[in-house]
Amino acid sequence: MSAAYASDHEHELAAEYLYPADADVLDIYERDGSLYVEVATVCPECSETLALTAPVESARETEVDLPIDDDYYD
Ligand SMILES: [Zn+2]
Repeated sequence: MSAAYASDHEHELAAEYLYPADADVLDIYERDGSLYVEVATVCPECSETLALTAPVESARETEVDLPIDDDYYD
């Protein structure tokens, strides 16, 4: 198995087992002129906390109010 992202964790992550309600934003930062978001989430296989880094590809207006309440995920 090979992931399309760099990882030093032994388990490959599958979106079907990852839930937004279990994730939290750790950091938003700029590097080399690009914006990145770092999200903490839990590995579905071993329950270890992982930090995922994602480049921001777009920004658009949304109807969601922050902080997001639990109803949003239902
Ligand atoms: Zn794991």
